[in-house]
Amino acid sequence: MGSTERIRNVAKRVAKWARAGHQMVVVPSAMSGETNRLLALAGELAPDHPETPYYRELDMLAATGEQASSALLAIALQAEGLDAVSYTGWQVPVRTDSSYTKARIESIDPERVRADLDAGRVVIITGFQGIDPLGNITTLGRGGSDTSAVAVAAALKADECLIYTDVDGVYTTDPRVVPAARRLNSVSFEEMLEMASLGSKVLQIRSVEFAGKYKVPMRVLSSFTSWDIDLAEEAKSGTLITFEEDEKMEKAVVSGIAFNRGEAKISVRGVPDTPGIAAAILGPVADANIDVDVIIQNISKDGKTDFSFTVSQTDYQRALDLLREKVAPELGAAEVVGNPNIAKVSIVGIGMRSHVGVASTMFRTLAQEGVNIQMISTSEIKTSVVIDEKYLELAVRALHTAFGLDKVE
Ligand code: ASP
Ligand code: MG
Repeated sequence: MGSTERIRNVAKRVAKWARAGHQMVVVPSAMSGETNRLLALAGELAPDHPETPYYRELDMLAATGEQASSALLAIALQAEGLDAVSYTGWQVPVRTDSSYTKARIESIDPERVRADLDAGRVVIITGFQGIDPLGNITTLGRGGSDTSAVAVAAALKADECLIYTDVDGVYTTDPRVVPAARRLNSVSFEEMLEMASLGSKVLQIRSVEFAGKYKVPMRVLSSFTSWDIDLAEEAKSGTLITFEEDEKMEKAVVSGIAFNRGEAKISVRGVPDTPGIAAAILGPVADANIDVDVIIQNISKDGKTDFSFTVSQTDYQRALDLLREKVAPELGAAEVVGNPNIAKVSIVGIGMRSHVGVASTMFRTLAQEGVNIQMISTSEIKTSVVIDEKYLELAVRALHTAFGLDKVE
């Protein structure tokens, strides 16, 4: 919601649903750019403040963005002639743990909201925020209103959680990379989880985890359609994230190609090939709060081996320093080398469970394009490869075509 005009459009859309007889709870995000604006103000005042002390205040600050948009939406709904009331996270309350800026929702009390719904009101609940056991305001991490919405839907046992966003659904891959990418009418919750974690930024990943845990049907649809489109049409637009796998059976084996540019590779060379080596390398990395993704250990030669793994680019330098300064000297490793210019490409599909040879089609396709695979990792429903970042777009396009995902005009 970037302007009062857009808020009015949302209000009219909500009014349309409410007048059709649906009980509606709306979970707004802040107005566009507002969270960034607020956080930048904090940055101006405390540019090089040591790590954590003001995290609590960042949450106090950032939560105001959603408070404003929620109140404005309630006002717009009232102007439409509907009875509407807005609540902040703490008024509901939405209870979270105390990890400021990345809190997790623990529970939501549905009573107050339920009473309003029963009295015929539209209820608006601020996204992105809650209250911790000590009464402090917390926020859920960037993009957290998706998770708020799913959590509210779960607490109220809603029929469906509609996520209105700036794209009109979930695509087979990023249409900016592959113009022939297609919107999926439905995608299974497990596939969505893989795609979200592999860098498709449509939804906050935690919202998908939440939807899976509480079996909340979720639909991703465009907030840019005109409010007065036919309700039945709107209700089946976008992409439904489903729990039924049967209807997927006749569909493509691979549902989508996900990719992530934001990873980097680190190799610790010439470490002794003895029990405990993975723990000795990855233990200190984990202790430094650095997440490790794809891991490979090479064959041993003369009792020594090479150990490689990927981390997020934002943790790359820290991981490299840590390994060079502390870990490598202790292990007597020959050297620690890194490459921040890699990318991970993954094929995702629940159909992969029942089909063999899917991964080999992937490898063959990349070979035909002359793309060298540096690392491979697999799970039941995905195969990921790490490649040189400069071949990313080529690889994604070739795989998209090879797995029959291109749009037919
Ligand atoms: N306003 C918050 C953010 O910008 C939450 C959200 O938009 O989902 O991250
Ligand atoms: Mg968002």
